[in-house]
Amino acid sequence: MKIVMLGAPGAGKGTQAAMICEKYDIPHISTGDIFRSNIKNGTELGKKAKEYMDQGKLVPDELTIQLLLDRVAKDDCKNGYVLDGFPRTIPQAQVLTEALAKTGEKVDFAINVDVPDENIVHRMSGRRSCPKCGASYHTTYIPPKREGICDVCGAELIQRDDDKPETVKNRLSVYHEQTQPLIDYYEKAGVLKTVDGTKDKDEVFGDIVAILG
Ligand code: AMP
Repeated sequence: MKIVMLGAPGAGKGTQAAMICEKYDIPHISTGDIFRSNIKNGTELGKKAKEYMDQGKLVPDELTIQLLLDRVAKDDCKNGYVLDGFPRTIPQAQVLTEALAKTGEKVDFAINVDVPDENIVHRMSGRRSCPKCGASYHTTYIPPKREGICDVCGAELIQRDDDKPETVKNRLSVYHEQTQPLIDYYEKAGVLKTVDGTKDKDEVFGDIVAILG
């Protein structure tokens, strides 16, 4: 089962992706997480990616596409995977389609987690993440048990630089220009499924499970 998560930044697609991966026991592949781990480790890729990410821009396709193709070629991806944050541009989607077609495969579901823009800014400004283990929270929707502290590993939670209000505005306009066209792309491919992302996270997950079967 190969699943692509679509939706604006902050729509909750990362949370849903993690829940799907746990239920179906397939890997959760987030290009954003891969870039953040490269930034943390001070790699060349991390340095280059950070320049774009801090401005709310997309990391160029030349740095992103091969990284993703190498990741999905790994052994743990044999039974499928959930892509969270990839593709984000039509060229990325085309490369993925072509790479899968070589082995007679395709994206089985593109799940569009639909949330109107007005909800997004509130959602993103409340997002917090754990710099140590990567767990994500929201001050209103997914609060940690102890304020500001990670439930999983006890580290102090942070607000990602790219979740700060000025960056959020840029990320939303980048989303509308470059990523929203993917909704049409996957609709034409006959695999698009849209869920109402304004519902409670467990309800959204129930809707997704009903789709995936
Ligand atoms: P995310 O964690 O998916 O919200 O991604 C955070 C940031 O990483 C984005 O705002 C982009 O700067 C960068 N990024 C993640 N995935 C991609 C991608 N597929 N293409 C280009 N940039 C990406």
